[in-house]
Amino acid sequence: MATIELHGVTKRYPDGTEAVRAIDLDVADGEFLILVGPSGCGKTTALRMIAGLESITDGELRIDGERVNERAPKDRDIAMVFQSYALYPHMSVRDNMGFALQLAKTPKAEVAARVEEAARVLDLTGHLDRKPGQLSGGQRQRVAMGRAIVRQPKAFLMDEPLSNLDAKLRVQMRAELARLQHRLGTTTVYVTHDQVEAMTLGDRVAVMRDGVIQQLDTPAALYERPANLFVAGFIGAPGMNVVEASVADGVLRLPFGDVALPGDGDVPAGDVVAGIRPEQFEAAALARGADPGHPRFRIVPDLVESVGSDLYAYFDLDGRQLVARLDVESRARVGEAVELVLDPSRIQLFNPADGRNLA
Ligand code: ATP
Repeated sequence: MATIELHGVTKRYPDGTEAVRAIDLDVADGEFLILVGPSGCGKTTALRMIAGLESITDGELRIDGERVNERAPKDRDIAMVFQSYALYPHMSVRDNMGFALQLAKTPKAEVAARVEEAARVLDLTGHLDRKPGQLSGGQRQRVAMGRAIVRQPKAFLMDEPLSNLDAKLRVQMRAELARLQHRLGTTTVYVTHDQVEAMTLGDRVAVMRDGVIQQLDTPAALYERPANLFVAGFIGAPGMNVVEASVADGVLRLPFGDVALPGDGDVPAGDVVAGIRPEQFEAAALARGADPGHPRFRIVPDLVESVGSDLYAYFDLDGRQLVARLDVESRARVGEAVELVLDPSRIQLFNPADGRNLA
C-alpha cells in the first residue's frame, strides 16, 4: 500500500498547452481519492503523470515518500484501469487476468491462485474460460479490475472505468467498486467528470478546472461549503442556486426578503452572491414547523420534474433560473403559483468579484 504526493506538479505539452498547473495533492494510504472536473480540466493528464505514462514538466511526484518522477511505469508498482478496459479479445478471462503476472515470470501455481482469488472477489469464477466477447459490459469491466487486483499493486489508478456502461449498470458497478476498494484498502486515484460518481465513491474529492485544483475536501464539505462559485455550481445536481444579494447592518438582503447573516456573521457590508441549495426551499403549506421569521414568497414554476418522492420546481427570478426541491406532497404544477419558505441557515456567501466563498 502506498501514499502518493504531488508537489507543485505541472504538465506543459510540447505545443505549450499547460494541462496541469502546479498542483499539490496528498493521497493517504488506503484512501479513495477522486479527481473530478469538466472535460479538458487536466484530470487525465494528472493521472497519467502518476502512472508514468506522461512526463512531469515541473514539480515532484512521490510514492511512499520516494521521488519517482523519472521511474519507468512498470517500476512504480501501480495498476491502471482504463475506460476502454483494454482486454485481449483472443485470450480467456483467466489469461487476461494473469497475463501481467506471467510476463513478470510469477510461478504458474501462484498466478493460478491469484487469478482464482480475484475471480472469487469479483464474482467471475464461472466465466474464467470465456473470451471477453462472450461477456456483458459489466463483466468485462470486472475483468479489467481483476487484472489490476491480481498484481497486488501499491495503488490503483482508474480513468473513467464505468463510463462505457449503461446508466443502471454504472450505478450497480459504482457500489461494487466502493465495496471492493474498502475491502482491499488499496490506495486509489480515480478520474471522472461525473460529480455523482465523485461524491459517492470518494473519501476525498479534488475538483479541477483549467489545470488547477479548486478544492480538495470530503464530499460533505464540498457540498456544504464550496470554496468558490465554480465548485458550488459543479457539485450537486441540480446545482446550487446563486442570487445577487447585499450585506448591510448585519443583515443579508435577498431578493426573497431580509435574513440574519448566516455563519458567524463576519461579512463586510456590500454586494455579495448568495448560494442556496434547492432543498433550502420548502412548500410553505407543508412547512408547519418553519421559523415564522424565514422569508416566504410566491413562485410560478415553469418546469416541474418528478424524481420519486421529490419534485424539482424551476422558476424565474428577475431573469435567473432557480430551482427548489419540494416534497411531492406540495403538488407543485407548471403555471400554478406556490408559496415557498426559505431556510437561510446554510446559505453560502461569495465575493462577486472573484467568486470566492466569504466564510
Ligand atoms: P476529458 O474529461 O475530456 O478526458 P481531462 O480533464 O481528462 O478531459 P486532459 O485530457 O488531461 O483533460 O487534457 C487537459 C488539457 O490538455 C486539454 O486542454 C487537452 O486538450 C490538452 N492536451 C491533452 N493531451 C495533449 C497533448 N498530447 N498535447 C497537447 N495538449 C494536450
